[in-house]
Amino acid sequence: MEETGKVFIKTFGCQMNVYDSEKIMACLDDRYIEAASADEADLILLNTCSVRGKAEHKVFSMIGRLKPLKDLNPDLIIGVGGCVAQQEGQGILDRSPLVDLVFGTHNIDDLPDLLDERISKGRRVCRIREESDKVTSAQVPSHAVISKPTRLVTIMKGCDNFCAYCIVPYVRGREISRPSVEIINEAESLVENGALEITLLGQNVNSYRDPGTGDDFIDLLEKVDSIHGLLRLRFVTSHPKDFSMELINAMASLETVCEHIHLPVQAASNKVLEGMRRGYTSDEYQSKVAALRGVIPDVELTTDIIVGFPGEKRSDFDMTISFLSEMRYQNAFSFRFSPRPGTAAAQLEDDVPESVKRGWLPELQHLQNKITARKHEDLVGREVEVLVESTGKKENGFLEGRTRNNFIIHFPGGEDMIGSLINVKVNRSRKIHLEGEVVK
Ligand code: SF4
Repeated sequence: MEETGKVFIKTFGCQMNVYDSEKIMACLDDRYIEAASADEADLILLNTCSVRGKAEHKVFSMIGRLKPLKDLNPDLIIGVGGCVAQQEGQGILDRSPLVDLVFGTHNIDDLPDLLDERISKGRRVCRIREESDKVTSAQVPSHAVISKPTRLVTIMKGCDNFCAYCIVPYVRGREISRPSVEIINEAESLVENGALEITLLGQNVNSYRDPGTGDDFIDLLEKVDSIHGLLRLRFVTSHPKDFSMELINAMASLETVCEHIHLPVQAASNKVLEGMRRGYTSDEYQSKVAALRGVIPDVELTTDIIVGFPGEKRSDFDMTISFLSEMRYQNAFSFRFSPRPGTAAAQLEDDVPESVKRGWLPELQHLQNKITARKHEDLVGREVEVLVESTGKKENGFLEGRTRNNFIIHFPGGEDMIGSLINVKVNRSRKIHLEGEVVK
């Protein structure tokens, strides 16, 4: 099929959505090239996320902002996919006449058909499949992103955990693992095409199980680790209840596995954790982290925290505050609780006043910022090994790279350095990144 135009994909939410956007791009690869901005696109796709509150509101306000583009170009096609689409379906078309097509989280492969239907028959279309028993790959598109040094590979989709606050099992479906042979083939093909670092993606990677061979996540890590040319291997997300000593030992022994883990704690009060249906206590979490730090001393941890879960008292919140100081996370992604329709927590009384949640969140973030700043300051003057990932998003002439243990560093350099491993001397600490200079 001939190339017909340019597509702009706006991705909301987590890395799973980033991966899905790559999959969308791969699906459209023979007819659309990537547009640098929405203004120059013939097709705009919003890949939405409904994990946090006001997701629908954000999507509709983004759609509203696209109206001037649609006025200028009536042939512009606007599509909505991802978790909000999966949840709202036809409701999006009913509510916004600007939207031409809606596709669910299991319908990415249908996009070319939906576009044909829209273009040739002039119909606004919505396709939402409830479940798919397949986890498909984001094949390497034949242009644009093939030489990116860091790539994502999905190993499973959906989740069986049904944490009380979480919409994921409802919009992404039940947990399905992808055959390891497919994962290895995709990872090998990415490495052949220039990837040096791969992140394995799943809602709960620890419960990965090859549907044919029964291989578990550690077997999979060992296989990916042995791919010739791969330098770094990461994975996300690990559920603390399934984070095992075997995995800790594998992290320590496999050469490519990086010294960083995202381990969402969510809260430190056992009462709140129980209400959230997380399946662990703060002591259990803490002893796993101690075991991890025992075998990998320079490992860095990041986490997610929800404040203001139903029934949470100031004394519960104080436990999370002390926990933060003890854990010394590299970073914590923190949010106010807001009920997601259809989840168990939506049945509970949302009894922590919004004003209280609004007070707790910055208190927690202020403490975390101090911890992050301290970690950054400790690195000033030191030399670190960095994989150069991209040009800096804000400063011209700057590159952005990452250490194995997940510190982001900006430094001056030329684009030809992207994809190389270099040593950088850290000169300055910033709020979310470091600044430095290349060591000759
Ligand atoms: S583990 Fe819990 S929070 Fe994570 S995706 Fe599954 S249900 Fe959601």
